[in-house]
Amino acid sequence: MADAGGILVVCATPIGNLGDVTLRVLDALRAADVIAAEDTRVTRKLLSRYEIHTPLEAYHEHNRAAKTPELVSRIERGERIALVSDAGTPGISDPGEHLVDACLDAGLRVDVLPGPSAIVTALVASGLPTGAFYFGGFLPRKTGERERAIALLSALDATLVFYESPGRTAATLTSLAGAFAGRRAAVARELTKLHEEVARGEIGQLADDFAARELKGEVVVLIGPPVASAQLTLDEDVVRERVRDAMTAGVSRRDAVRDVAAELGLPRNEVYRLALE
Ligand code: SAM
Repeated sequence: MADAGGILVVCATPIGNLGDVTLRVLDALRAADVIAAEDTRVTRKLLSRYEIHTPLEAYHEHNRAAKTPELVSRIERGERIALVSDAGTPGISDPGEHLVDACLDAGLRVDVLPGPSAIVTALVASGLPTGAFYFGGFLPRKTGERERAIALLSALDATLVFYESPGRTAATLTSLAGAFAGRRAAVARELTKLHEEVARGEIGQLADDFAARELKGEVVVLIGPPVASAQLTLDEDVVRERVRDAMTAGVSRRDAVRDVAAELGLPRNEVYRLALE
């Protein structure tokens, strides 16, 4: 039978700025018998900033199979274990979800202390619609698998949010531009840190911009919902006029279509169709 004092306390920690931690989380980290941390070096910086001396143990993707049952039985015996990830809320795209699931299955008490997560920070910082959003975690690395995963999302009437590594951001933007031409998009990078950047624009334009960049830091990629077809009908005359003006000024049809699609937030293939009429 579980000792009534045992508990797993899931603690959200900063996604960059060490000031973004709640008072409850600091109290929980101090009161814990041990802190299970995804990366003990990262967590040590937070603990030293707030003068917390609780012992740390690693809990990550590579040791979770063995470590999960061990932590569960220690909580059953009455230990108070705080769980933190590298950044943000444990359980969101990191191994925390397995420990929470195992503790709940064992009938143990789990408290979740809310705080930062890159999903919500990026969503709000992007300025894209927040009424409905879909979080897709990390897209597959292989191009074919990634494009199949993206194609399944094309009809969703929601802002799409993906985590990404800096090295794969350009390839992911290219795949997204292929499926979602004309949609508004954003790349939110290094949120809450010194080099924070939120780049916004039509997805094809953003893919072109980021193709030439060597990115560093942490990245969230966001795509706005599909453009309403009613809006397309309303803007048809404007679209034709803008393309005609650009071509009269010497811009090629291809570039005129790309620029007008980006400016009006419309799919390139729709603008192209109108340009041909
Ligand atoms: N548990 C974390 C959370 O709640 O946000 C996410 C962990 S996941 C392994 C790490 C990913 O989160 C990064 O690859 C990046 O996509 C995103 N991320 C974390 N911190 C970020 C930041 N400061 N700016 C932008 N993206 C960030």
